Amino acid sequence: MVQDETSRRESEEKKKMQRDNKARGGIGSSRPQRRLVNGHTSPCDECGVLNWVTDNSRGEVSCGGCGIVAEENCIDPGAEWTNHDSTTDRSRVGAAPTYTLADKGLNTSIASNDLTSGAAGRYGMSAKSRRDWRRRRTIDERSKSRQSRSRNLIRANQMIRDKSGLPRSMQEEACRLYKLLSHQGFVTGRSIAGVTAACTYHVARNEGVPRQIPDVAETFEVAEKELSRMIRHISRRFNMHKVSSPTEYFGLYISALKLPPNTQLQVDHLWSVLNPHVHIWQGKRPTGVAAALIYKAASESGNKRTQAEICKVAKVSEVTLRGLLRLLDGLFNSLGESGQN
Ligand SMILES: [Zn+2]
Repeated sequence: MVQDETSRRESEEKKKMQRDNKARGGIGSSRPQRRLVNGHTSPCDECGVLNWVTDNSRGEVSCGGCGIVAEENCIDPGAEWTNHDSTTDRSRVGAAPTYTLADKGLNTSIASNDLTSGAAGRYGMSAKSRRDWRRRRTIDERSKSRQSRSRNLIRANQMIRDKSGLPRSMQEEACRLYKLLSHQGFVTGRSIAGVTAACTYHVARNEGVPRQIPDVAETFEVAEKELSRMIRHISRRFNMHKVSSPTEYFGLYISALKLPPNTQLQVDHLWSVLNPHVHIWQGKRPTGVAAALIYKAASESGNKRTQAEICKVAKVSEVTLRGLLRLLDGLFNSLGESGQN
């Protein structure tokens, strides 16, 4: 009887709180605050006090000093935060969908920590139903990854996350490209590692931070030949062919050779001289042209690197490098350009 009375009072209190739109305690009880707009960051025109009070339930902004209402009927730009359930958690949103997860992160799963003895006991779950639910949980998890396509997608996404070394936004793009290819049946008969490596290569190149095929092949553990064939295939399919320019490799080589950052200025200067003379550098490998320019800039700025060191970083042969250097020297001499700026 006494207990009945207490629970009745409690529920009444709860209803009253809901009516008054008052915050309750516990998880999810804090309501996102309305950001102050420009007009409410300066002191009050009437009394000069800077103390704006926002009343969310009335939709008013008033002065804490004199009480003048500065804004009414204001729109709450926050999340819709009413709980129509009888529980206290008022959140109803999750993280944004992402391509780096096979189901874009939009799934419902049975949390394993709800089924451990402590938590389950607190919710009044018997040992038998706990066992049953654990079994259902396993079945549920398995059903999500049973189809081979989605299972492959999970593995591919994992590879892109672990091995690509791309920043978050580019991982997202690589995963999207893989998903597209997988839906077109491109992955069938090819290795997941190979296709993810090709996706990584393409995304990195399109975003202007190119990777070299041997490096990508090594991290993804695929054969170079297979990878370059796949890259060509994909770029033809999506018309992604892009003429890469030597400029894209400058930063990469400068940091790989541990040259001082101001080498970049010298390289840029040499490039600005070379750039108009397309007959010299177009049709040559951009990595080779970049390597030759870096070599020249490094020697001229007094931080000489050997040809072998540069060839190792740029992955071109010394013969190629020397050939390009001869061409460059010929051009710079004919222009009377000392190379110094
Ligand atoms: Zn005031």
